[in-house]
Amino acid sequence: MRELFAQYQLLLTILIFVPFELLFAARPQKIFRRGLLTDMAFLFLNGWLVFVGVTAILAVATLVNQWILPSAVKQAVGDLPYLVQVLIAILIGDLGVYWTHRTLHAVPAMWHIHAVHHAVEELDWLAAVHQHPLDVTFMKAGSLFPLVALGFSTEAIGTYLALYYWQTWLTHANVRLSYGPLRHVLVSPEFHHWHHSSEREARDKNFAGLFSFYDVLFGSVYLPQGQKPKTFGVDEPMPSRYLPLLAHPFVVWASKHKRDDPSGTQTQRQ
Ligand SMILES: [Zn+2]
Ligand SMILES: [Zn+2]
Repeated sequence: MRELFAQYQLLLTILIFVPFELLFAARPQKIFRRGLLTDMAFLFLNGWLVFVGVTAILAVATLVNQWILPSAVKQAVGDLPYLVQVLIAILIGDLGVYWTHRTLHAVPAMWHIHAVHHAVEELDWLAAVHQHPLDVTFMKAGSLFPLVALGFSTEAIGTYLALYYWQTWLTHANVRLSYGPLRHVLVSPEFHHWHHSSEREARDKNFAGLFSFYDVLFGSVYLPQGQKPKTFGVDEPMPSRYLPLLAHPFVVWASKHKRDDPSGTQTQRQ
């Protein structure tokens, strides 16, 4: 039943975003663009690996909720009405996304995981799935862990996740959408496209997933008026296929370790 629901949801996503991009394209780009097959592999295969990571996060968060969280906090969160819980869950979840995302950019070892997402050079809605399973797991740890640990209801967390699901497709979509002054409050496609830009001034900016005011607040916003990002991608050479992309961070870590370890070099020379 869940499989069937996921397939209908995907079909609905395709039926919304393909015509949306055709009608309101921000840049001229083909539907059958470069890297489409790789993104299909991410779409259909990543879920199994992400499931393992997210299950582990949920298990630990549930233990924290049951064994560590004071019962007064549990009671206070549980007593909140559904809509208030949803609002607070979105605020906490997106704050978690912001700092996890910023850390993935700032810590060199973690960047090699996140670079997989930034390797996309032709951005559209489907590029949202072009993400290493470890990257998705870290992001979910930042957002879901505090919500489950604090005891937000399944319905409130489910609503936050549903909203995040549609927002992720939308912010990657190749569409022209003006948010007006709200662009400094809510994350728009324009805002996230700048995050993917390879232009120097735009690097390490715009980390939020839903609320751009977090970037305004923490000094990492980049939204030049009347301009559009011209190029996307990263400086370092990246593989273009699914399995080499999964292996990418491990390959980089291994090669760095080899370079840093003189005894390894010695052994190789002998
Ligand atoms: Zn990023
Ligand atoms: Zn992205």
